[in-house]
Amino acid sequence: MTKKNENAISTKAIHVGSHPDKETGATTPPIYQTSTFTQKSPGKHFGYEYTRSHNPTRTRLEECLASIENAKYALVTASGMSAIMLVMHALKKGSKIICGDDVYGGTYRLFTTVFHDTHEFIFADTTDIKKLDSLVKEHGPDLIWLESPTNPMLKITDIKKVCQIAKKAKSKVIVDNTFMSPYFQNPLDLGADIVMHSMTKYINGHSDIVGGCLMLNDKKFYDKVWTLQNSIGPSQSPFDSWLVLRGLKTLGVRMEAHQKNAMKIAQWLEKHKQVEKIYYPGLKSHPQHKIAKSQTSGHSGMITFFLKGGLKESKKFLSSVKLFSLAESLGGVESLIEHPAIMTHASVPKPIREKLGIHDNLIRLSVGIEDVDDLIADLEQAFKASR
Ligand SMILES: *Cc1c(COP(=O)(O)O)cnc(C)c1O
Repeated sequence: MTKKNENAISTKAIHVGSHPDKETGATTPPIYQTSTFTQKSPGKHFGYEYTRSHNPTRTRLEECLASIENAKYALVTASGMSAIMLVMHALKKGSKIICGDDVYGGTYRLFTTVFHDTHEFIFADTTDIKKLDSLVKEHGPDLIWLESPTNPMLKITDIKKVCQIAKKAKSKVIVDNTFMSPYFQNPLDLGADIVMHSMTKYINGHSDIVGGCLMLNDKKFYDKVWTLQNSIGPSQSPFDSWLVLRGLKTLGVRMEAHQKNAMKIAQWLEKHKQVEKIYYPGLKSHPQHKIAKSQTSGHSGMITFFLKGGLKESKKFLSSVKLFSLAESLGGVESLIEHPAIMTHASVPKPIREKLGIHDNLIRLSVGIEDVDDLIADLEQAFKASR
């Protein structure tokens, strides 16, 4: 989605924020591994005072992130969760939030165990636009919190439609865009007010840091979350910001490779006799495939499927894989596999999990960028072992 007179995302990911160092000409950005900055005279400085507030390496990363998500501002935080926390703190007491019912387990936990005393949360299936419309009319929420695709069921919400409904009610829309990365989906262009990412996943892409970010156009809200970050303190370290800036350079080629591998594996799983059902937004069989196609330029490496059998078969399958690592998280170059009911979504109460379809035979893959035939062979031997 290149705008006029603007470079494409793969170019921006390499060049924006990565200009040569002014002092030395260093082609690769320096890591400003410092907590404080020396001032010429009291209050006279180079724009940097203390790393909790600002750091030049982090600034470079923020410039790059804003540019690839088509935003004016970006704020980098120490984790995805702290980015979400800052948004919650920025809302006034008593705020109403309509939240997708199938969001990241940690988001659900933050909302229901930390902010439940100060804010009101209404959980809803955001893919049901009619129902969402009436909920918005009924509650007049301050914020609508979306994930598309959701985690782990990979449900797709029509972001444009939700934003139109929200606009009428003067509600803000925030999209957790972690699963798509800015390479495949840009929610601000679809009408959202804020985009949030766990940079731990696709943005960094190498499973070696934890980080989060917010991208937005509203200067007032940006100032608010920056002030909160400076007051509360969840700022990312210069070294971690540098690693993300480095990881970002290959975002385009990584996402293309994730998509290519995931598509092949999804098509293979769809035909496998030990698979009950599979969800991958790139497959025609996905219930919201058309919406996915209309608002994204591709599909990531996330696949969810139901194995034929129960907990016993799932456990056997999960402990038999060799190339796939049995681990939480996603979006790294290496393939990961996990069991949402026991691992990532254990913080979601069992009755709610069941209602959402997170059963004991549900398995989530984060397909990496290894050789796809090796990955398929690994899954096949695990299927055999689980029989
Ligand atoms: C991982 C994740 C988060 C939380 O981010 P952290 O970096 O782990 O704090 C939020 N949303 C989604 C969709 C995630 O996958």
